[in-house]
Amino acid sequence: MARIARLPDSIANKISAGEVVQRPASVVKELLENSIDAGADKITLSVKDAGKELIRIVDNGAGMLREDALLCVERFATSKIIGVEDLDSLKTLGFRGEALASISSVSHFELKTRTAKETLGLRFRYEGGVLAEESGVQGEQGTTMSVRNLFYNVPARRKFLKSNATEFQHIFEVIKSFALAYPEIEWRMYNDDEELFHFRTPEMAERLNFFYGSDFSDSLIELSEENDYLSIRGFLGKPAMQKRKKLDQYFFINRRVIQNRMLSQAVQQAYGELLVERQAPFVLLFLEIDPSRIDVNVHPAKLEVRFDDERSVRNMFYPVIKRAIQLHDFSPDLAATA
Ligand code: ADP
Ligand code: MG
Repeated sequence: MARIARLPDSIANKISAGEVVQRPASVVKELLENSIDAGADKITLSVKDAGKELIRIVDNGAGMLREDALLCVERFATSKIIGVEDLDSLKTLGFRGEALASISSVSHFELKTRTAKETLGLRFRYEGGVLAEESGVQGEQGTTMSVRNLFYNVPARRKFLKSNATEFQHIFEVIKSFALAYPEIEWRMYNDDEELFHFRTPEMAERLNFFYGSDFSDSLIELSEENDYLSIRGFLGKPAMQKRKKLDQYFFINRRVIQNRMLSQAVQQAYGELLVERQAPFVLLFLEIDPSRIDVNVHPAKLEVRFDDERSVRNMFYPVIKRAIQLHDFSPDLAATA
């Protein structure tokens, strides 16, 4: 007797949700990526109970037509690629069409959306991935996604969520990196109904000082260099700022937040002896490279990219960092008093 049965979508989505959605912060990351991909320049995040009770993202992006709004929660349904070859010229943050299927299957999910063309918006409510209600709503152009009671139907997962302080910290890290990577977007965040920030202008200094303390931006080295192959822009911290063991290190490749060993090591080497043992300098660097030279499809949460020619990237990257550091006088005396 044959024993294999195809799992229904509702179960398959729930199982694979484990890869995409580990915790509230992963939901926040996926939803923010979608809002950016939809062209929003105003994004508001609200969380309650560290995202365990509610994660809501309001954007003023393109919105969706009814047909798309119904499809967007299906697995492998995406407007961002048509074929595998599109991954070579990817301009969007998303491409797998998995996030909303996963998120909606493990939460009480509500989607409101309106395109510029429609006068009335649409609202869809899902319970565990099943459409429970559809109605029309008044509302601005754009999309609002509300994720309630994450993992309500996956008790094992829910149980493994950490304290509110920890889960909130993860969420905050995510939105912080987006707010730094996308200065042109007006970001706003609420935690349990209290406004934490609202960045109305693209001023980087305002954001850096908010996240790292007043005057932080004054003590950064700004750099901007490019050749045919790679463009590098951003900020480097002075070694003297390394009071704590590790400040943040951000690498954005084509506006995607990523971790990359080669880049971190190159930075570490460029600072070299300026760093006291085990210090890692603050860096916030935007790299732009032809999308065909990187593979973004190597990590479930898209946190890593692979370069087609890592050596060339390093050969260009390292001297730029080294030179920027050398141009500034980081003599130990200054460092000690800074
Ligand atoms: P992906 O981002 O990989 O395409 P998702 O599951 O995250 O997959 O989203 C599915 C689709 O839903 C997207 O391709 C997009 O067309 C649509 N979508 C999701 N979020 C938004 C949004 N905030 N505004 C407009 N369209 C959206
Ligand atoms: Mg997405």
